[in-house]
Amino acid sequence: MSSTVKKTGRKASSKPRKSAAVDTTPAVEIIVSEAVAGAHVTNAQLIERRNAAVPRGVASAAPIYAKYAENAELWDVDGNRFIDFVGGIGVLNTGHRHPKVVEAAKAQEDHYTHTSFQVVPYEPYIELAEKLNAIAPGDAPKKTLLVTTGAEAVENAVKIARAATGRPGVIAFTGGYHGRTLLTLGMTGKVSPYKKDVGPFPADVFRAPFPSARDGITVDDAIIGLKNLFLTDAQPSRVACMIIEPVLGEGGYTPVPFEMMQQLRAICDEHGIVLIADEVQAGFGRTGTWFAIEHSGVVPDLITVAKSMAGGYPLAGVIGRADLMDAMEPGGLGGTYGGNPVACAAALAAIKAIEDEGLLARSTKMGEMLKARFAEIGARSAPYRFWDIRGLGAMVAVEFVTDFVSAKPDADFTKRVIAHALKRGLLLLSCGMHGNALRVMVPLTASDAIVEEGLAIFEVAVNAAIAEEV
Ligand code: PMP
Repeated sequence: MSSTVKKTGRKASSKPRKSAAVDTTPAVEIIVSEAVAGAHVTNAQLIERRNAAVPRGVASAAPIYAKYAENAELWDVDGNRFIDFVGGIGVLNTGHRHPKVVEAAKAQEDHYTHTSFQVVPYEPYIELAEKLNAIAPGDAPKKTLLVTTGAEAVENAVKIARAATGRPGVIAFTGGYHGRTLLTLGMTGKVSPYKKDVGPFPADVFRAPFPSARDGITVDDAIIGLKNLFLTDAQPSRVACMIIEPVLGEGGYTPVPFEMMQQLRAICDEHGIVLIADEVQAGFGRTGTWFAIEHSGVVPDLITVAKSMAGGYPLAGVIGRADLMDAMEPGGLGGTYGGNPVACAAALAAIKAIEDEGLLARSTKMGEMLKARFAEIGARSAPYRFWDIRGLGAMVAVEFVTDFVSAKPDADFTKRVIAHALKRGLLLLSCGMHGNALRVMVPLTASDAIVEEGLAIFEVAVNAAIAEEV
């Protein structure tokens, strides 16, 4: 067992950062393992070791290696400081290592870390299920299944819908992302890189159109497309469920128009189809409400959750109408690690932090601020590039094009902005079918000062990417 040693960190710099001379490590005691404390390992060394040891299919957006992180800041092994607008892909609405989350996880670790809920159950699972049942929209009695990853939550939601309806069909939407396992890949609506070379995909998964201003697809067109699907391929009485992200995540941070969500609800009711809201990315305050679907007033039958629910611990779940959730036989749901007690304790603390710190209201305010600041930055730097600034609450994205006349998506420009931002100490991640949108997943606990500092770096990065072209 490796012991730990304490290293006293230096004071954090408020400068955008990097220079070997700039003192940028955090003003806290960092506890590192002896192996790391003894020999300083560099980003360059880790890149080399990683290339030899890890398959290239696991891509990483940033060529840096984490050493320490706190709230919306992260330091790499070379001592560089970054403002984190990515939050481990939308997992950290309550920030890196929220003190209450860490405290709850540590307290749980002092009791037991794993028994398997299917062998010896425990209270944190039940308490979390009760909490999720209480905050999910709708008055019908609810129950919650806990699993480990978002894809696993989606797979289980489909299983529950199939068992409850006795039907096989699944309808997903263009641009939707639901995971990388084989069933969820069938539902994920993007070929490269996710689906490339790994088919065939499961049968009875159908795709309906998602409205798109870019492609001239209106809500009416999308609904006609769905109804045509019922005529051409998907017999409605054989469809178990329809799954939709109330705000497309990987697909580009595009909210489902509320009237579309309402029409989907009516269509599902008409045909006895289970409506699943995939809230893995949009849930837990990202959009200013617990769940993004609440904005439309629609109550889904099942909700898949993960990411920011547990403040950085691997935990996911399906929350749903009790009558549907009870469709499967005992033993049909679960998995060795599902609802890990440490992750449950962390989730209860993260949810409490969202409540105690008013993070839903904070998300709405932060979203307004982000949109206004992106509009200003766009107007100052390159208005013809900023095609769209969109989102709900603090789930905001900026979409870049080559110019407003052709409105051609510009993934290359987006990549260069990300690279320039990284060099200057800001972590950004793209999204969208064309890879030309930047999404903001900064912790809702981040101070205005940190968000502003990140936005200032973003503006410099945009200007640097433009300067390269002239
Ligand atoms: N659904 C949505 C909406 C997601 O954003 C993701 C992950 N980005 C998933 C499902 C899959 O989650 P995981 O990566 O935990 O399997």
